[in-house]
Amino acid sequence: MGRRSDRAQGNGARPVSAADESHGANTRLVGAGRREEWTGPVVNPPVWRASTHLYPNTAALREGGKHNADGRFFYGRRGAPTQWALADALTELEHGAAGTVLYPSGVAAIAGALMAVLRPGDVLLVTDNAYEPSRVMANGLLKRFGVESRFFDPLDVGGFAGRFCERTRAVLLESPGSLTMEVCDVPSLAAVAREKGAVSLIDNTWASALGFPALERGCDIAIMSLTKHVGGHSDLMMGAASAGERWYGPLRQTAQALGQVVSPDDASLALRGLRTMGVRLEKSAGSALAIARWLAGREEVAQVLCPMLPGAPGHDLWQRDFNGGCGLFSFILKGRNAAATARFVDALTLFGIGFSWGGYESLALPIDPSAIRTDSSWPPAAWDAEDRRGIRLSIGLEDPQDLIRDLERGFAAMERE
Ligand SMILES: *Cc1c(COP(=O)(O)O)cnc(C)c1O
Repeated sequence: MGRRSDRAQGNGARPVSAADESHGANTRLVGAGRREEWTGPVVNPPVWRASTHLYPNTAALREGGKHNADGRFFYGRRGAPTQWALADALTELEHGAAGTVLYPSGVAAIAGALMAVLRPGDVLLVTDNAYEPSRVMANGLLKRFGVESRFFDPLDVGGFAGRFCERTRAVLLESPGSLTMEVCDVPSLAAVAREKGAVSLIDNTWASALGFPALERGCDIAIMSLTKHVGGHSDLMMGAASAGERWYGPLRQTAQALGQVVSPDDASLALRGLRTMGVRLEKSAGSALAIARWLAGREEVAQVLCPMLPGAPGHDLWQRDFNGGCGLFSFILKGRNAAATARFVDALTLFGIGFSWGGYESLALPIDPSAIRTDSSWPPAAWDAEDRRGIRLSIGLEDPQDLIRDLERGFAAMERE
């Protein structure tokens, strides 16, 4: 957990590198969270493996117990400089954030943020394109605690205000949506939520703070699975939620009440990943766009669902609201059944078959999002035919021409009945 360091005010820390907001994203990634009090004389903060923090005497122990402040030693559950440096870095990258809370996974971040906001009797509006575990959480855990969830069509901006009732406390957004990748008009939806007195939370894992400055676009709480782009190397699980002054406190208190803490080793890995996130995102987004273009030209493909691709659904909003993209997108195959999709994916040799994404290695996953929808007009016609199946690709750092050759193998295998 960490609150934005205000170096200008002087907290004893000399800035190692200025993570000034006038700087570009990659410059800010290099400097973010690097306070001398966290790092000492070296570049990166050490891995502080600590449960016990020792006090010099009982007076200091008593004094320590009185303060529950960011960046103060107390007990390992409240973190040490390794975790504080990571939280600080994420806060610096999220324009408008007063602080960031770290969680042991992205799902824990979503749960922690929702629990910080919701009370029994509240209604939560959930985008119908939500990540599946978010749906499961809404329909299970939250229901058990007396919160009613209602799903809404993320593309129906005009009808959104009509979804609110006097009990609507919060809105959970996700853009682009999981699997189907539709981009929604976040500034408009967040403005409606604010007008109705509801808190807006967004799962911003796809774009990260670099690609979509969620708080600046009107959201109250920005959530990310750090497992994906920040980690970037498929070797850690972590999540984060950042918020401005109004919601940072409740996020932090709720996380502390739930005993949420991340390991210093994982925080160190996440910090390491964070430094190269900009170049990795740029590379994988560029490759993804090239591959999406190539797929759009294949006659077996009904539709490419990649917001970065001109002409694809959501492209105009993506251009208006986003500063960047990533390697994750989906495409729909024409009139294919699940067996054909499976043959396609099984024939790939460079793409791994697996969940998650945002790692340096490419992944492919057969998808059928119809099973996790409630009432959206989406997916459009391309998905309506019974046997139309999709594939989600997470493009990594391989050379795109090799990945295209691999996908050619998939198409060839699909034709072999
Ligand atoms: C993976 C993912 C999460 C959850 O992250 P974990 O770190 O795996 O718990 C949340 N939202 C989206 C959109 C994801 O893809």
